[in-house]
Amino acid sequence: MQSRPKFIFVTGGVMSGLGKGVTTSSTAKLLQLAGYNVSCVKIDPYVNYDAGTMNPVAHGEVFVTDDGGECDMDIGNYERFIDTSMTKDHNITTGRIYLDVIEAEREGKYLGQCVQIIPHVTDAIKENLKKTTEKEKLDIMVVECGGTVGDIESLPFLEAFRQMALEVGRSNTLFIHVTLAPVLDVVGEQKTKPTQHSVQELRRIGIQPDILAVRCKTPLTTDARRKISLFASVDQENVISCHDAPSIYKVPEVLESQKMLKVVAKSLTLKRSKPRWGDWKRIASSFSNYKGDVGIAVVGKYVTLPDSYVSVYHALSHAGAKIGKKVEIDWIDSEKFEDGAQRKVASLGDYDGILAPGGFGKRGSEGIIAAASFARENEIPYLGICFGFQLAIVAFARHVCGLSGANSTELDAHTKHPVVDFMPEQRSVHDMGGTMRLGGHDIAVEQGTIAHKLYGANSIRRRHRHRYEFNQNYLGAVKKGGLVLSAHSDSGKRMEILEIPKHPFYFAVQYHAEFSSRPGKPEQAFEGFVKAAARS
Ligand code: GLN
Repeated sequence: MQSRPKFIFVTGGVMSGLGKGVTTSSTAKLLQLAGYNVSCVKIDPYVNYDAGTMNPVAHGEVFVTDDGGECDMDIGNYERFIDTSMTKDHNITTGRIYLDVIEAEREGKYLGQCVQIIPHVTDAIKENLKKTTEKEKLDIMVVECGGTVGDIESLPFLEAFRQMALEVGRSNTLFIHVTLAPVLDVVGEQKTKPTQHSVQELRRIGIQPDILAVRCKTPLTTDARRKISLFASVDQENVISCHDAPSIYKVPEVLESQKMLKVVAKSLTLKRSKPRWGDWKRIASSFSNYKGDVGIAVVGKYVTLPDSYVSVYHALSHAGAKIGKKVEIDWIDSEKFEDGAQRKVASLGDYDGILAPGGFGKRGSEGIIAAASFARENEIPYLGICFGFQLAIVAFARHVCGLSGANSTELDAHTKHPVVDFMPEQRSVHDMGGTMRLGGHDIAVEQGTIAHKLYGANSIRRRHRHRYEFNQNYLGAVKKGGLVLSAHSDSGKRMEILEIPKHPFYFAVQYHAEFSSRPGKPEQAFEGFVKAAARS
């Protein structure tokens, strides 16, 4: 639509955790609502090739794209806001860029040159951004740089942004700097000095921001706006207050109430500067207009950091918003339920539903098995995801089929009954990064099952991230016990969904249903689960 694609670069100042991802997603959403073909890229300046090998408790969830990318969790925000399925190209790390550059050097592509950060690394960054933008025929690409201005590791990326402005032209690039206006005293004055310093730091490396998105608790005062405008050398209308909103999906409206699109359109010489809201406002409001609530216990391994299950959180909230119920989540460490602590497990009876999310390794696994059994025996709605699917099978095999000592070989390599086992093709795998069964796979759903009713389709596509699977040697035994395996993939090679028809809602999936949920369009397993929990 545009003659040349445009780039918006979002940088962070003052400190991390200001919601740069939400500002990026909301800006992209506004442009999408104005009719532009827009997408986002997240730059993570760490040296890891991707997020796949990172500890979720330290870094947050690994978000899986349909093409099998193990990405930063911000990609999940982008997908949820602009409802677009992204590829791994939308997450760039220092590791990825350096690997490309070093491989090119080994192939002799630099023809004897001394390979340097400027221009070779910065060129590789720019090439990557341009390639994805062209491949997807985008009008506008919004690029978010992780970290805070001043970090050593983000310097080559910021330098590449600076060069982009020079190369593609100032009217095709826009810089948004996200900062904070804290309030320290009882008088409640919003402090602008951190923003001033952060802008100076950005300028020092050659970037003059066009827009300042200032995080604050209450709307930015006229005085603070005036000061920031003066010191940062931007018009007052280019200082956007990003004050607290009742839900993240309201942020596009917060931005637009200050004519954000007009400001962006002016800088980027865009013709259209009015969003056509369609359903968006109604959907966004559904996250703050609740009648009643539903109490869900998420029993998992990485609960000390709720970000490690951030897509599960969002999927639950999408399902709750759709039925007008606020989902109240308690994050419970499954280790609490280990060693036959029956009394503690019984505390799960206080919840309307129990969800067991993904996980790896032995620690806490017996606690998840105990929770899966408790939900089954006490008719509490249960949703199991990946590890939660596998351990629901273990629980069923042990307690319903009488296969004592049944387990997953991930947790007990010598179990008598390996009801969950390594996928055969995983046996030859030695590298840890990028080698699980990853990404979107087509799944055939059996007619006449709960799964078929929920999905309303014979075939669905969902994302995966696992090495173990249900061992079909035990198919006869679990079927006899009343477990229905209602969906499969790879021509029946892998089981994807289990359900217990006699239970109010006992449903577990080998795939990560949470990555496919969107505001206004909750993933069906989550919707079914939250509905059942609301009834209980
Ligand atoms: N650890 C299990 C496996 O690798 C489950 C993985 C997960 O929950 N993502 O199969």
